[in-house]
This record gives sequence, structure tokens and C-alpha cells, in this order.
Amino acid sequence: MSHDDPGRAAHHEPYTRLVMLARPGAGKTTQADRLAHRLRLTHLDTGALLRREVESSSPLGLTIASALEHGELAPDSAVMAVIGPGIDDAVSTGGYVLDGFPRHLAQAKALDAFEPASSRPQAALLLEVREEECRRRLLARASLEDRNDDTPPTIDRRLATYELEMLPVLEYYDNRGMLVRIDGDRPSELVTAQILDRLGH
Ligand code: AMP
Repeated sequence: MSHDDPGRAAHHEPYTRLVMLARPGAGKTTQADRLAHRLRLTHLDTGALLRREVESSSPLGLTIASALEHGELAPDSAVMAVIGPGIDDAVSTGGYVLDGFPRHLAQAKALDAFEPASSRPQAALLLEVREEECRRRLLARASLEDRNDDTPPTIDRRLATYELEMLPVLEYYDNRGMLVRIDGDRPSELVTAQILDRLGH
């Protein structure tokens, strides 16, 4: 067991509650989706849930529309209102792969205060991809997908926000022995295989 394995010795139950951390553009959503499929868990894509809320023009959606458009983090209260019920539902049907949450330390702590304790994450997967490669992938995606937050200035803002906000989150999970580092700068099938291997599948 390497030192950064997430407490395998003490952890005999299968992994059913995972968070996926990575820079924007690192392939988080692709990997979370595949992993959820393989492990029969629910993929909770925070960004997609927030975008859906905006599209529905609900009062909640109106409060987060401008943040999303500018690549800024949406207010925690709104994000929790969207993701909280999703976590509850996912736990009741076997577990989750949480993608896009937490985005900063307060959200990581909020997740660890979730009740019941059996709905809190067991491990945090960190997909490591260099910033330049993420920028390149995001610009490529911009021409394929109709996402109005994939413009060069917004991409730069999102990457900068990640550097600023996520370092304390990585430390937080590392200190708890929950952080699993994955080399994300490889063909995506190999990344999936590495994740499954590290989780003991
Ligand atoms: P993503 O699809 O993960 O790139 O997220 C798209 C946008 O949704 C981000 O740029 C933020 O505006 C918002 N967002 C996603 N996840 C969160 C979160 N956990 N907290 C606050 N805002 C978020």
C-alpha cells in the first residue's frame, strides 16, 4: 500500500461515495461518468445540475445565472440547495461520484458535516493534468459544445480560481488520508483503469 492510498487497511467496505477533483478541462466529468457506470453509482455533475437550474429559470436559477456566465463560483447556499437532495437520493440508491463539488474548503467541510455521517465521502480522487493542457482542451471543447463559459477570458478565470481555492481542499483531504492522486495526462481509458485499480477494482 503506498502512503497516499486512502486508508485501505482500515477501510474494508467498497467505495461507494467518491469525490472527483481536477482543474477545469482535466476530464473530470468523463471519468466521473465512467466510474459511476462501472461501480453502479450516481454521477452527480454539479456544473450540469446548476446549468439545468438556470435553464429552468427558477428563482434559484436566476440567483446563479450571472456567476455561471462569468465563470465565477455560484453562492454556496444555492449550490447546496441543488446538490444536497442529489446526494441524499444517490446515497439511498447505492452511492455517488461527486463531480464539481467541493470547489473550495468551506464546501469540503460542509460535505463532511452532512447527515447522516454515512453519506459523507470516503475518498477524493485527484486527476492531475497540467494547466496548459487543460487550457488547450477547454479551448478545443469551446468549438464543439455550446457552453458560454468556455471563452478564453472565462477559461483563464476558472483556472485561476482552481489554483486559489483548491489547494486548501487538496491539503484537507490529504491530511485525512483520503486523497488519491491519479495521472490524468494519459489516454482516458488508461486514466479510468488507473482509478479502478487504485480503488481496488
Ligand atoms: P463545471 O461544469 O464544473 O465547469 O462548472 C461550471 C460552472 O458552474 C462553474 O464555472 C461555476 O460557475 C459553477 N459551479 C460548478 N460547481 C460549483 C460549486 N461546487 N460551487 C460553486 N459554483 C460551482
